[in-house]
Amino acid sequence: MDTGMTKIPELYGSLVFNDKVMREKLPKDVYKALRKTIDNNTHLELDVANSVAVAMKEWAVENGATHFTHWFQPMTGTTAEKHDSFINPDDKGQVIMEFAGKELVKGEPDASSFPSGGLRATFEARGYTAWDPTSPAFIKDGTLYIPTAFCSYSGEALDKKTPLLRSMEALSKEAVKVLKLLGNEEVSSVSTTVGPEQEYFLINTEDYAKRKDLIFTGRTLLGAKPPKGQEMEDHYFGNLKTRVSEYMHDLDLELWKLGIPAKTKHNEVAPCQHELAPVFDTTNVAVDHNQLTMEVMKKVAKKHGFECLLHEKPFDGINGSGKHNNWSMSTNTGINLLEPGKSPAENVQFLVFLAAVIKAVDDYADLMRLSVASPGNDHRLGANEAPPAVVSMFLGDELTAVVESIENDTFFNKMGSVQMDTGASVLPHFFKDNTDRNRTSPFAFTGNKFEFRMLGSSLSVAGPNVILNTAVAESLSAFYEELKGVSADGLNDAVHALVKKTLIDHKRIIFNGDGYTDEWIAEAEKRGLPNLKATPDALPVFIADKNVKLFTKHGIFTESEINSRYEILLENYNKTLHIEAKTMIDMVYHQFLPGVEGYMNELADTIIKKKQAVSGVSCKAEEKTLQVVSDNYDKIYDLVEKLKTDTEKAEAIEDSLQMADFYKDTVISDMESLRAVADATEEIIPEDALPYPSYGKILFYV
Ligand code: ADP
Ligand code: MG
Repeated sequence: MDTGMTKIPELYGSLVFNDKVMREKLPKDVYKALRKTIDNNTHLELDVANSVAVAMKEWAVENGATHFTHWFQPMTGTTAEKHDSFINPDDKGQVIMEFAGKELVKGEPDASSFPSGGLRATFEARGYTAWDPTSPAFIKDGTLYIPTAFCSYSGEALDKKTPLLRSMEALSKEAVKVLKLLGNEEVSSVSTTVGPEQEYFLINTEDYAKRKDLIFTGRTLLGAKPPKGQEMEDHYFGNLKTRVSEYMHDLDLELWKLGIPAKTKHNEVAPCQHELAPVFDTTNVAVDHNQLTMEVMKKVAKKHGFECLLHEKPFDGINGSGKHNNWSMSTNTGINLLEPGKSPAENVQFLVFLAAVIKAVDDYADLMRLSVASPGNDHRLGANEAPPAVVSMFLGDELTAVVESIENDTFFNKMGSVQMDTGASVLPHFFKDNTDRNRTSPFAFTGNKFEFRMLGSSLSVAGPNVILNTAVAESLSAFYEELKGVSADGLNDAVHALVKKTLIDHKRIIFNGDGYTDEWIAEAEKRGLPNLKATPDALPVFIADKNVKLFTKHGIFTESEINSRYEILLENYNKTLHIEAKTMIDMVYHQFLPGVEGYMNELADTIIKKKQAVSGVSCKAEEKTLQVVSDNYDKIYDLVEKLKTDTEKAEAIEDSLQMADFYKDTVISDMESLRAVADATEEIIPEDALPYPSYGKILFYV
């Protein structure tokens, strides 16, 4: 394929049923009706859908598609698809290619094999998928993909898209109300925007194929540290190896064809670790694109002889992978509400929305933590490579000074500039400041957006954005209630008082220091901020009264949807740990112990043969080694037996939260003890004693 620079604009989005294609292919009135649905969330009539379906099919067939699929995001964390061909046989033994409006707007996949957390038991097995016209359809591998939401027969959400769309609507509604109060009449909707930075590892396929732990669990469960790790700091932003560079180039092209604006790529801190960031987009599109990006990353990797690892912690002792969720709010008139304005009046609007976010993060820090909880991410949060499990916010020096000036009714002094009066009614004049950075903060203001940094690399970004949108919608709703009765004359003072009170009430969530230190964890505890260390600690937050109230008030989840999701998350934790424990047991019995036995056998043979060959010869080193290895062998044997027994105990526990706690407290610590002795043993046995590659081989021979 010619990938010369001039061709990129043509290539970009060439597999997407985007606005340009719609305009070309659709009758004018149909185009207008569809646009209205996309822009204003209005209902789409079936005759419009029929017309869209015909155009979509024509375009798809022209571009080589033979099938279509509804594409959805069940609670498995990945995407689901079921392909139907366009063919329809006629009575002359021939076929025509057909696609009707009703096939576009609705599908009826069997829901019974997707996680439903108990919803299924009380309802029918049938599920529905419903077209999300706000996320464009695309072609992949000869199939037309139609982004859809997925729900049960009675309308309960069984996916990640439905609550996300609900939360975007809730935020839009509340934000518009507040903007109108502030005198901003033109805005009719507000959407949230997201740019997710995605980290990943690339390792050789042949190494991957030999490691059961990577295949079954996505991470290594055994493995001694290599002589070199990431201590030289020579990988971050380092020059790209040719093979890696070719991969990244190919990946960009594939993403661009799908209309995914991949923008930035570079090496990350750990060996074999890299990052890709797209240009931000409306949240639901960004979520769909991130799911696609992860999928395409894995697929393109295979073509280049790589396996792409998206697990949060593939290698012990080396940084794991995260995902940064850059988030802001944008009006339909094109204003970023988190962009500090050029005049004090614009700053009023900015400060109101900033205060809303501060209040939201403080009030719902527990839900923010919950939204990034997963067994994989438990290995990262608080491990000196990622933010701690305590949620806090970083504002930077300038904004903090602004906040303090409002709080104390003092002057805000911008370095080198005139002092501004921040008395009763005039809010400070300031500009966005991009200079200071804080890598250790879970939620950092970065000039005109917030960067939520606690996400694990494999997580769908839907969940964290549902929480962010909903929590901010709730703050705005409270602000509206506070301000709605105020007269026009008193509005300025009332807004100032509200911002001031909000900042005072919620300043405990603001922390600009080093989030990796123990001092901060102690300080956070004093401030009363939740520290939910592991997934089982965080999950019960979902069903806490205050949070159920939040979700039901804004129509994000019904109570039964909340309970079902809580069950699904617990189940997912328990199953993941179960698979990890069983994989470790399998590897130790079938690979590690036999490998060590083989070596002991060799050593014993050597000793016997040496003694036969030379009478009185010293076998001191061999005997000592054999003794150490043999002692370790015994220990490993006992430890793997214990792991096996405890895993069986875990499985016998009825209550799923108790089961999760048992995995967390007992099984994980069994796995750690077993690993410690195994890794120490690996360090003193020959490289080829084990049938799988070492850390050194995997990480430094790409
Ligand atoms: P940094 O390197 O400081 O993290 P970048 O400017 O590279 O910042 O942005 C990182 C990500 O944030 C990119 O995906 C970018 O598109 C996204 N981003 C920028 N502005 C916004 C915004 N208003 N809303 C959401 N994401 C944004
Ligand atoms: Mg960043």
